[in-house]
Amino acid sequence: MQSKLTWEAVELKVKAFLAIALVIVIVLSAFYAVWQAYDKSSSAPVERDVLFQIAAFNTFSLGNYAGYMNYSELKTHGDFGIGTLEGLDGEMIAVDGVFYHIPAEGEPREIAPEEKAPYATVTFFEADYTFNVAELNYTEFKAFCDQKLSSKNAIYAIKVVGFYDYAQTRSPPKQTPPYPILTEAIKNQSVFNLANVSATAAGFWFPSSMDGVDYVGYHLHLITDDRSAGGHLLDCIIKNATVEIDEIHSYNLILP
Ligand SMILES: [Zn+2]
Repeated sequence: MQSKLTWEAVELKVKAFLAIALVIVIVLSAFYAVWQAYDKSSSAPVERDVLFQIAAFNTFSLGNYAGYMNYSELKTHGDFGIGTLEGLDGEMIAVDGVFYHIPAEGEPREIAPEEKAPYATVTFFEADYTFNVAELNYTEFKAFCDQKLSSKNAIYAIKVVGFYDYAQTRSPPKQTPPYPILTEAIKNQSVFNLANVSATAAGFWFPSSMDGVDYVGYHLHLITDDRSAGGHLLDCIIKNATVEIDEIHSYNLILP
């Protein structure tokens, strides 16, 4: 009798222990599931179909050339875009995740992560439309694109990869404080006349509704395939090229 009672007591204790253990396992599993979901949401990638810009164009162009975002951070918001460096030091073009500086002296170089931008527009480029073009000057090219931009209210990222009979580019020299306004600063810009080059032009078209926030219309920068030259595109004659267009409906502006 004595030994039977003890056995029942032990059995009861084991059952109670198993029940408590089961509850603990269920509670811990629930916590783990919630933590996993939270962790996934907090490490989710940056939204890719967004135009990310630092500084409104009209603020920047009044002489606000002090850099305030590292290129390492800028890169987390896009792999494609245009801009400049601290002190309006030349032109920036980003193609396929590589950010280049085209100085007034001419030869492009890769931008280091710790360098800063006072103004830049970037996005993750994913083409929505692709066209082939041939024998177009810059005016004809813009007219061609005008017909392809389906909404005059969206922003478009534009990439033109091909052969150029001619491309005229510019790059301003680095300015020192007190900074002059943009129209003054570019009076002593370098102008490059490039003939017969394979190159990529990259940039944006902004709607007139965003006048002042950015540069309305077409704003493209260019870099040659051999990375020997480039700059802000002033004029060109396209021999043949592939035009890729990425339509963008979201906009993230970081104010200085
Ligand atoms: Zn430019």
